[in-house]
Amino acid sequence: MSELKLNEQLMKGVQYCIRCCIPETQEGVKFDEMGICQACQSSEQKIHIDWVEKEKQLREILDTAKEMAGNNYDCIVPISGGKDSTFQLHVLTKIYNMKPLALTFSHNWFSETGWYNLLNSLEKFNVDHIMFTPNRDLVNRLAKKSLEAIGDTCWHCHTGVPAFALQAAVRFKIPLLIFGESIAESSGRSSYKNPLMEFNVDYFMKVSGKRDPKDMVCDYISEKDMKPFFFPTLKELEDAGVRLMHLGDYIFWDDERQMEFVRDTYGWKETEIEGTYKGYKSAECIMPGMHDFTNYLKRGYGRSTYQSSVDVRNGLLSREEGFELANSFDMEIPESLEYYLKITGISREDFYKMMKEKRLDVIKNIELPVIQKTRKNKERILPFAQQLVEKEEQRRKGK
Ligand SMILES: [Zn+2]
Repeated sequence: MSELKLNEQLMKGVQYCIRCCIPETQEGVKFDEMGICQACQSSEQKIHIDWVEKEKQLREILDTAKEMAGNNYDCIVPISGGKDSTFQLHVLTKIYNMKPLALTFSHNWFSETGWYNLLNSLEKFNVDHIMFTPNRDLVNRLAKKSLEAIGDTCWHCHTGVPAFALQAAVRFKIPLLIFGESIAESSGRSSYKNPLMEFNVDYFMKVSGKRDPKDMVCDYISEKDMKPFFFPTLKELEDAGVRLMHLGDYIFWDDERQMEFVRDTYGWKETEIEGTYKGYKSAECIMPGMHDFTNYLKRGYGRSTYQSSVDVRNGLLSREEGFELANSFDMEIPESLEYYLKITGISREDFYKMMKEKRLDVIKNIELPVIQKTRKNKERILPFAQQLVEKEEQRRKGK
């Protein structure tokens, strides 16, 4: 730790993109012969895309959807209440006059700010909305199993969001599902010129959930518990003509400006997010700190590396400044670790032991420092639903 210079890469002997701060341990990362990562290549391509032409394509897709929908909803928009889904609702309802059915798969870890943002967006956009919420006990058990199965805490959200959206598309016969940010934007898995050909059910399974719901069944999770997480069959999806798209493949995506826009226009709120210096991504959830801390323990980088790399690409930070931010936040033990250990019954010792086992081979021998976080998180790390119940209980007790 003492040797670590704040403005340099953390892991010595590991390849990092020469432009941004992304290491070779990022899942699916590809470097070109110069050593530039695909996300950096993609951000350059983005400048040269004819976005006017893309917008025309978007208009055609949406017009066709409207025509086909008749009296049904024109499309499904999965929303979390985050800045992306708020922006999606703005674009679809205010600019293109679409009538979407909004869907939320609740991770049941809503932050107070996130809950406000979700309800606020429903009020502001006047959309019909369905929410599915897995029960508290199941969420706790899945959070436990998730660590062992995929090495992070959030399997139920990774899988539940697409499963619920696809189930609804089939059930309500609404074939068009519109997601937000393009996979080419900053995930590094594809680029604008080299798009992912199969953005489909397989994509969700491999990239997002990584484990079939059946594989989650164990002595404390039954197959019956898994009901909400199964995807429709390929036949059902084909019969319903389900089509998935990202708005970000058709309009120039700038999440910083979009956040400012939804904040100033609709009253969307930021909050403090553990493990990073930015307050707008995953603001709906109390657990991103755990998601990203486990990523750090597995892959040697966290959310700050990811977000500072985006800022470096956009010319907002130098690469050195990016490393400085990454090295200040990625290794902080999040407050949400306490909550996670409490709901899963996993001991702190076992948690670190398990994460050590999950660490990628290429960095097995590298020391990954962790530091105690000294600031108290701005928001309470307790699902907002539980905060409400607790408040009422205290009121009754006359506290
Ligand atoms: Zn890069």
